[in-house]
Amino acid sequence: MDKLKLQADVCIVGGGPAGTLLGFLLAKKGVSTIIIERSSGVNRKFRGEHINSETEAILKEHQLFEKIEELGILKMKKVEFFAGKHIVNTITPSIDEDHVGIHVPQANLLSAMNQESGQYENYRLFFNTTVTELMQDDRGVYTGVKAIRDGQEIMITSSVVVGADGRYSTVRKLANIPTVEMTHGYDVLWAKIPAPAGWEPTTRMVLVNGHQLALFTQTGGFIQIGWNIEEGAFPSLRKQSLQPFLEPLIESFPELKELVLQHLQTWNNFVCLKVQSSRSDTWVKDGLIIIGDAAHTMTPTGAIGINCGMKDAHVLAPILTKALLEKNITAHRLKIFEKNRKTEIKEQQEMQMKQEASFSGKFAQFALN
Ligand SMILES: Cc1cc2nc3c(=O)[nH]c(=O)nc-3n(C[C@H](O)[C@H](O)[C@H](O)COP(=O)(O)OP(=O)(O)OC[C@H]3O[C@@H](n4cnc5c(N)ncnc54)[C@H](O)[C@@H]3O)c2cc1C
Repeated sequence: MDKLKLQADVCIVGGGPAGTLLGFLLAKKGVSTIIIERSSGVNRKFRGEHINSETEAILKEHQLFEKIEELGILKMKKVEFFAGKHIVNTITPSIDEDHVGIHVPQANLLSAMNQESGQYENYRLFFNTTVTELMQDDRGVYTGVKAIRDGQEIMITSSVVVGADGRYSTVRKLANIPTVEMTHGYDVLWAKIPAPAGWEPTTRMVLVNGHQLALFTQTGGFIQIGWNIEEGAFPSLRKQSLQPFLEPLIESFPELKELVLQHLQTWNNFVCLKVQSSRSDTWVKDGLIIIGDAAHTMTPTGAIGINCGMKDAHVLAPILTKALLEKNITAHRLKIFEKNRKTEIKEQQEMQMKQEASFSGKFAQFALN
């Protein structure tokens, strides 16, 4: 079969929150843009889905917020801290806000942005398409990607390749960009149950018998529950009975007992997020940029991963558009993006470390054997 050959100014690898927002912003400015996405659509199982006020403002600035709101969001009214059954602290919205975070299902976020981008002729999105190789010219400048789409090889030539392909970024690896990975001593088990009638849209952080849990109320009447477990403990944990694991949750929230027992019957109902953070040495090379989780994976603390990735896209879009217009897309010129974002990301990662350290003695101590 003949290779499909395509051309664009920018080829974005990865249609997650960072890549999708960047695609929209570039397309809107007339930049010819292709996004290739490995999965078949926008549904994701357990991802960062809470946006903060800064991301809300970015989405409003680009007239995206209303479109996303139409598909469904849920504003959190407060964050409550529980010691066992008792509320020990409550955070409510500041005077000029009406929420303490917004739950936005990634499917809604991505669908709304894809729909808006679809109106631009200079924008193309290919699902089921996985990057396999980066192309370079004889000076080492990146000139595009090779990918597999539904079994067929495609070749996309572009002035700039953007790796927005997440924490295990293939683009980053193919471009030999070194990354420092940090583990944090814990992993998170996620599971989801329907919310009982009258359950308020709140985020609940819980310490019960030394176990740390987080309950996030979700759009559509669900509660996503996260259990901090000792790093690497899931394989041995899942060989044990599930019942004792569920007890701390039921002890703190007896009103959830029936739903927990009905919906969390096997370990297959849980997804384990390996908690790590990472920072890449460089985010920009000649003809190539990495953004979002590909450049800097965050831990779940504070639920900021999605917000950081989307801010990258918001900051990069005008820099890249101008550089393309002026036909000066050297790494030297585009480094301004990296410079702009790296300091804030480093500070945010340090903040996550500090917040985690204050809890570290209290993480769930399930045996590793
Ligand atoms: C299981 C899980 C649970 C998470 N839970 C939380 C949480 O509770 N709170 C929080 O704040 N953050 C969480 N995160 C992190 C959060 O989802 C990310 O920070 C956010 O989605 C980053 O956006 P991104 O666009 O940079 O990367 P991603 O959302 O990871 O998007 C990358 C995209 O690239 C695609 N891709 C990957 N490889 C290729 C390839 N070779 N070719 C083509 N496409 C490719 C992927 O399919 C994906 O759609 C979680 C992440 C995971 C994986």
